[in-house]
Order: sequence, then C-alpha cells, then structure tokens
Amino acid sequence: MALNQSGWRPSAPQQGEGVAATHTGNKALMLEEALIFEIGDEHTTGVDFAPGDVAGSRLGNLTRKSPIGLPGLSEPETVRHYTRLSRQNYAIDLGLFPLGSCTMKHNPRLNERMARLPGFADIHPLQPVDTVQGALGVINELAVWLIKLTGMHGVAMSPKAGAHGELCGILCIKAALEKRGEGHRKVVLVPESAHGTNPATAAFAGFTVEDIPATAEGRVDTEALEARLGPDVAAVMITNPNTCGLFERDLKRISDAVHAAGGYVYCDGANFNAIVGKVRPGDLGVDAMHINLHKTFSTPHGGGGPGSGPVVLSEALSPFGPLPFTERYADGHITLVEEESVDDRHPDSFGRMTAFHGQMGMFTRALTYILSHGADGLKQVAEDAVLNANYILRSLADTLDAPFAGSGPCMHEAIFSDAGLAAGFSTIDIAKALIDEGFHPMTMYFPLVVHGAMLVEPTETESKAGLDQFIGALRSVAERAKAGDASLKTAPHFAPRSRLDETLAARKPVLVWKEPAPVAEAAE
Ligand SMILES: *Cc1c(COP(=O)(O)O)cnc(C)c1O
Repeated sequence: MALNQSGWRPSAPQQGEGVAATHTGNKALMLEEALIFEIGDEHTTGVDFAPGDVAGSRLGNLTRKSPIGLPGLSEPETVRHYTRLSRQNYAIDLGLFPLGSCTMKHNPRLNERMARLPGFADIHPLQPVDTVQGALGVINELAVWLIKLTGMHGVAMSPKAGAHGELCGILCIKAALEKRGEGHRKVVLVPESAHGTNPATAAFAGFTVEDIPATAEGRVDTEALEARLGPDVAAVMITNPNTCGLFERDLKRISDAVHAAGGYVYCDGANFNAIVGKVRPGDLGVDAMHINLHKTFSTPHGGGGPGSGPVVLSEALSPFGPLPFTERYADGHITLVEEESVDDRHPDSFGRMTAFHGQMGMFTRALTYILSHGADGLKQVAEDAVLNANYILRSLADTLDAPFAGSGPCMHEAIFSDAGLAAGFSTIDIAKALIDEGFHPMTMYFPLVVHGAMLVEPTETESKAGLDQFIGALRSVAERAKAGDASLKTAPHFAPRSRLDETLAARKPVLVWKEPAPVAEAAE
C-alpha cells in the first residue's frame, strides 16, 4: 500500500467494505445506544422504597391524574447508558482538539487538585469575610498577576466568561463617557478581523456597530479606521492577536489616534496565550481587555464548562469597574468591597454583573497554573503556542491554500481557505473526514474574511509527534478533497452517526421525545 509522506493511508477504506453490518448495530466496542426514553419504562427503578405511611395529599385538586412518563432503568442499566453515551464524545483528554480561537489545551491535574482543596471548594459566598481570608488571598494574588502580566492598572475579577468580560469593559467605557458628559458617543468601531462576540457585545450595550475593513494581509485597515474616528465614536474593539491568527502591529498607533479623538480602546484578549509574557497590552494603549482564564490559564471548558473572564482596566477606566472587588489593607487583611460608596472611595462603579465574586474554582486553577509555570514558563507558553501553529501552517502550505502565509509568521492559529479543492468540495467535507481520522474538526467558515476558512489552533501542549499525526491526517484528507474523492461528501463513515444536517438541527431542534406511532398506523 502506498503511504504518503507522513505514513498515513492516502484514502480511508469505506465502512462495511466487504463486511456485513453487525446484528446489533455496534461497531466493535463502539456501542450503539438508544435514547433513555426508548430503553427505559415507567415500571423499572433502581431503588425499592418500603411502602410508607400514606399522608393525605396536600395538593387538593392539583394532584396529577396520570404518570409523568419518566423512563426508569435499573442501576447497572443507568450506569451503562450514560457511560456508553460518554464514549461517543470527544475530549481534550482523548486527543488534539484544534478548534481555532477556543484554546483547547491540556488542563494540568495539579490545577484540579488545588481547586478541590476543601478550603476553596467547600466555602460559601455568604460566609463572613473573616472566615475566607485564604480564598480572598487567592483572588487578590491572581488579580495582581493579571495586572502585572498585562501592564494595566486594575482588574475586574467577577465576569464569568470572555463575552461577559467584553460587556464589562464596554459598560466601563459607557460609564466613563457619561461621567465626562459625552454619552452621545454611540458608535463602536469593530474591524472585520475581530471576534464575532465583539459586535454582539457593543450592540447589546446599546451602541451602533460600524465595520472597519481588513487589509489583504489580514490586519485592521489602520487608515480606514483613523479616517472614521470622530466625536461620535465611543470606542474601537480590536481582537489581538486577531482572528486571522495575526498580531495587530499597529495597535499602539491606533490607540493613540483613538485617544486623541476622545474614544477608548477595547482589546479582545481571549487569545492572550499567544503573547503572555511577551507583550503587555497596557504598553499598547489598551483601556480594557478581557482575559479568558479558561483558555490562556487552562481549565476544562467547552460543552458548557465554567468560564471566567476577568477584565484588566487602564487608569482611566478603573474607577468605573464593577463591584465587588478585593482590597488588601496594609496589615495584610483583605476585604471585599461590596457597596458603591464605601468611604466614598468607589462612587463611579457602574454596578454589579454577578451575584457573587466570580468563579472561585477557576481562580484557583488559574493561579495554580501561573505559579507552577512561573514567569519564564508563561513566556514559553506563548513561544510554544506560536511555534506549533507556525509548524502546522508551513507544513501544510504546499497542500492547502494559506491566504496569510505571506503576512509573516502567524501567532497561535494557522488559517487555511478552501481554494484549490475540487469543484463541489468544501471545508465541511474536510472537517467531517477528519472525524473519521480520529480528530475533532477545526473551526470552520470563520473568520468570514477568508473563503471556506479553516482555523486551526494546536496550542502549546501538543508534542511534535502529535502535530505530525494531525498534519498527516489533514494532508491526506485535503488531497482527497483536491482529487474529488466522492466518499468525502458523505463522511464521517466511522462515527456513531454519519453526515447530519446541522443547520436543520440548530434551526429546528427537536427537544421533546414523542413515542413513535405504531408501525401499522404510521403506514396508513
Ligand atoms: C473565546 C473567545 C471569546 C468569547 O469567550 P467566551 O468565554 O466563550 O465568552 C471572545 N473573543 C475571542 C477572540 C475568543 O477566542
């Protein structure tokens, strides 16, 4: 058999080629599993209760007349049901997860160990402040590190995700403008190379969003941006590194121009892992920037896992940050500032974004990550993230179109387009075939400035051997797409379910299970 450069088979064998389908529908030890409603019934239960004293119902005529139809399983059946489903999932603990912009990287187990210490895991947000000094110390020390790493003045710790952090920063800007009597500034400029949450945040906060074009090399068109500045512009929101995987080299020049025109600079810092320890956004004139602790400082996320999006603030914006925040007195005692005018020192806070202080588990994990890496280790995080992405970019640039390969080295993400694929083939065919190869697909069709974009973020935690395997798989699949291999159009072939209509699933989700009509009736 011919092997390609990386030792992977150039074309995958088709499912069931010369092999009968199995009687059970299982594929070796990958087991089929029906919905719990299809396998459970109302009469089975994992526990037996002794008949109790029947107290009279206190529900009066509200008592339910018919069973509610919850399916029951025995305990071993329940365990198997959920374990079988969990095996159909993919996770960073199973393999490379190259989703661009998401920074799915290894989560050190040390972080988990620390976050589970009872003094952090078992405390309650309403406990007296004197009983949680250690936890407040963690929040405070993490805050100090974030300020130091970004070269900023203050930090709001409570936002619970990147997009929530964006809202926090924009509300600070709004409050600062209103305080200056310039609440009439209603326009937020968002370059095409920014993340999609940026315009959504600005619009949600009541601003009008205007696009600034990207240059052919994938960066903000600085001249176009400068030309649009004026007395109606509240802020610009710039993602740096941007969604084309490039560093916005003009950021300092842009900040100076925005400040001169009376606006503020919001920087989307979700991709801080590409520059941590190398660049301080404060030096570039940024006024507010969120940091995704769950990306840069690693925590299991995706699938709804917890996020945390502290926002670092410039001196100009710090007074407007949300409550609560920690403050350390000279004697070492830490307090939580919960009220707007404690000692009249915080009269300008725009208010509160969360019920409590933020994500304690995330804070503990992030501080553990920072302390275990140390200043030199954090710098290496950025260097390795960038090195790995450039390795992928340069290794595949002979097979896939890399639109910004000429714009210099990429940052932590490599971007490819669908140019050069056979007629009728698109990015989705490559992504689906990658599932057959055992990889989670990359981010697809984003950013919009690249046709059929494939955004790949390997992160710093993959080994060269792991990257070579991925490169081999992507090369093989891309070659099939260029050669017009029709089997790609129906990939994945080896997954529990084949090609699905995701648009239909998203637009018209079926959220309620209905018992199928009996076959005879259905046939009528
Ligand atoms: C992930 C990401 C966000 C949003 O962060 P969430 O924590 O998902 O809300 C914003 N901008 C960029 C560039 C991102 O990568």
